[in-house]
Amino acid sequence: MNRPRAEAEALADAILAVKDRVKLCSICYSLTEEDPCELCTDVRRDASLLCVVAEAKDIYAIERTSAYRGRYHVLGGVISPMDGIGPAQLRVKELIARIASEGPAEVVIATNPNAEGEATALYLSRLIAPSGIVVSRLAYGLPIGGDLDYADEVTLAKALEGRRILS
Ligand SMILES: [Zn+2]
Repeated sequence: MNRPRAEAEALADAILAVKDRVKLCSICYSLTEEDPCELCTDVRRDASLLCVVAEAKDIYAIERTSAYRGRYHVLGGVISPMDGIGPAQLRVKELIARIASEGPAEVVIATNPNAEGEATALYLSRLIAPSGIVVSRLAYGLPIGGDLDYADEVTLAKALEGRRILS
């Protein structure tokens, strides 16, 4: 409140400018100023991997890891019957169309590890399975630097379920 009015106006204009410029990528449905977005047009990215996320912000989280170099598809939410959100309210049709036209070798489902995220992953895996494409899901795990003793039973049980062969 104690900043000059001109400063507040400049900030408001900047927010409006961003709102006017940012749109949805017509391929992956992430937020972008250029359509298609730079993730979709980057030829160095691995087109054989397609990662499905609920929201555009999840892309930034995965990109920060530098552990994934494939492409993305934003669903625009997760299946949630309580909120009246089913597959028809999400970009599922668009996902199936992309899989048909781009032919990825693997679809990585990266929805949140909660009931809605699980239901969405299960629904998509059943939908994609007949095409013969590998459908994977992010592993559940123990926090790095964590202690087995302190992990809750669900996390520990899921970590056991998702264990990897070392040799
Ligand atoms: Zn895109």
